[in-house]
Amino acid sequence: MNKFLISIVIPIKNEEESIEKLYLEIIDVVKKNKINYQIVFVDDGSTDKSYQILEKLHKLDKKIKIVKLRGWFGKSIALQAGFENSNGEIIITMDADLQDNPIEIPKLIKMLGEGYDLVSGWKKNRHDPISKTLPSKLGNWTTRLLTGIKIHDLNCGLKAYKRVVVENLHLYGELYKYIPVLAEKQNFKVGEIIVIHRPRKYGKSKFGWQRNIKGFLDMLTVTFLTGYMKKPAHFFGTIGIMLSFIGFLIGVYITYLRVFTGTIQYRQPLLFLGMLLMIIGIQLITTGLLAEMLVNLDQKENLTEKYIEEKLF
Ligand code: UDP
Ligand code: MG
Repeated sequence: MNKFLISIVIPIKNEEESIEKLYLEIIDVVKKNKINYQIVFVDDGSTDKSYQILEKLHKLDKKIKIVKLRGWFGKSIALQAGFENSNGEIIITMDADLQDNPIEIPKLIKMLGEGYDLVSGWKKNRHDPISKTLPSKLGNWTTRLLTGIKIHDLNCGLKAYKRVVVENLHLYGELYKYIPVLAEKQNFKVGEIIVIHRPRKYGKSKFGWQRNIKGFLDMLTVTFLTGYMKKPAHFFGTIGIMLSFIGFLIGVYITYLRVFTGTIQYRQPLLFLGMLLMIIGIQLITTGLLAEMLVNLDQKENLTEKYIEEKLF
């Protein structure tokens, strides 16, 4: 198991009480299993003592890398920055709040060895308040229905990736919640494994009720991104062509009336509707073509360099 370098990427937002304990737990697991590791902590604009604690750990253990973001950018950017500043052939992500148990790491790595590209934890026995587990169940269920993915717990913090997968994720906004969908739609083999989940002992959850309102919009984004990411012109173009065609038929009818009866017989509203449909339709078609140009922009450069204030490697 010490063949590959394993990068453990951990986003941190105000987790001062948990960081050291988490570090000790991880060290225990990697030593026992002879894992060749590297830990990348990403400080997502913490306002407590998290960063000072990280600096201290970094002095003790050179296998720790710290990436300090300039301020708070959210979990997606924190993870993305961690991916871009890690070197492992295998990447593990986990939450810093001790809810995920590092003891699961060897099992996740083993599953990657069995041919999976991404292995996602499943908090089957979850220790969170119902205000969180219920919306989460509903969200997971709807996403499974819309996207056809088989995973039960999309947004588990504990995941293992082959490097090629993270190289093809461009996380921003709340996309981190749908990583398994984003990966599977790129034909990566996605698996899941039941993991231990512990109650949060220190600090607070960083996500409140607003999470549920945003959830619905996120789902639309992801369905769109994964369904049409490669071909936005098909999405916009199909609707555009349909609308223009209806508009065109109305135009033909109005022209027929004018030519053969000499008047359009109080059909002005219909004339306007026809014109409107054609204009909207053509706009949608051109929007699709613009989106197509965006998709084809080369996005190889590091995406998070601009957010980073300091790096301790
Ligand atoms: N986190 C972060 N930026 C944020 C929110 C959270 O880096 O804007 C980190 C947080 O420190 C923790 C992980 O992401 O390590 C998961 O956060 P949390 O435990 O609050 O999420 P929950 O368990 O409530 O889903
Ligand atoms: Mg948590």
